[in-house]
Amino acid sequence: MKPNIKNIAVLTSGGDAPGMNACIRAVVRTGIYNGINMFGVLQGYQGLINDNIIPMGPRSVSNIIHLGGTILKTARCLEFKTEEGMETAFQNLKARDIDGLIVIGGDGTFTGARNFSRKYDIKVMGIPGTIDNDLYGSDFTLGYDTAINTVIEAIDKIRDTADSHDRLFFIEVMGRDSGCIALRSAVASGAEAVLLPERFTSTDELIAQLMLGASTKKSSSIVIVSEGHKAGGAYDIAKQVKERFDHYDTKVTILGHLQRGGSPSSFDRILGSRLGYAAVNELLKGNTRQMVGLRGNEIKSMPIEDALNNHNFKLESDLLEMTKVLSI
Ligand code: ATP
Repeated sequence: MKPNIKNIAVLTSGGDAPGMNACIRAVVRTGIYNGINMFGVLQGYQGLINDNIIPMGPRSVSNIIHLGGTILKTARCLEFKTEEGMETAFQNLKARDIDGLIVIGGDGTFTGARNFSRKYDIKVMGIPGTIDNDLYGSDFTLGYDTAINTVIEAIDKIRDTADSHDRLFFIEVMGRDSGCIALRSAVASGAEAVLLPERFTSTDELIAQLMLGASTKKSSSIVIVSEGHKAGGAYDIAKQVKERFDHYDTKVTILGHLQRGGSPSSFDRILGSRLGYAAVNELLKGNTRQMVGLRGNEIKSMPIEDALNNHNFKLESDLLEMTKVLSI
């Protein structure tokens, strides 16, 4: 059966995430393999409005599978939220006869794609690309696994110092609304405690946990603080704890943007390839306004609407309990 779609464009939007390049490569090559003309949009929705749309061939995506960031660049674009912005974007796509659009990004990106396809005659597919893992409908989002690996590599190094000097380190990791990075990093690095946006931990509770370790002759401790923790960031928590618990010398490290970059893990390269391949195939089947995601070990699609209407409840409660038990 001949596909009812002829020209597909792909863009990355919101924060960059490792694995986006592997995904772009898969989208472009799957499209070309199926006889589709492929286009790349530079700088997300801003590129649609500015007519920054380039043809892509199989060689446009050579040697990028191992690179972090996104070769298509990304941007946050307020203009795309306006009627004029969307109209200009559509005219630029129409001028090239582009009838399918694949967006790689987070929930803001998906909201934009859904609104755009409701208004204009264009089929859209969403691919969850964000290190925060805060999208419903995919067990893992693109970039999340690499971000955790980056975080634990940093924590391992900090632990060497913490242990040599009998120190208590508070390490702040990304995650404004989602504690996924913090929780997995805590388990993988053997941290003594973890503070999450989804769960309030009082200073009393934290100090009790640290005292337990000190009483059993722990020479150092690591506390992972998610940036969205409601009682404050790593500096605030460290200050509150230091005032009442002076067993260790206390230090703070904010990992910041180093968590976003770097070469994608094998997991993210494979996930990006699978999601990109699946997104094109969904468009070829005539589907629209869907998101492809990893569920179990299968790639499945579901309405973007469902992803937007449900919030992420991905925190594995057994991991939280385990952090406590395994840190005695
Ligand atoms: P991350 O999880 O990395 O923050 P995100 O996709 O959620 O990724 P946002 O900055 O929220 O990042 O959204 C990306 C872009 O999507 C925005 O800059 C804007 O161009 C577009 N967008 C967001 N919300 C809407 C909306 N309501 N209507 C149209 N476009 C939107």
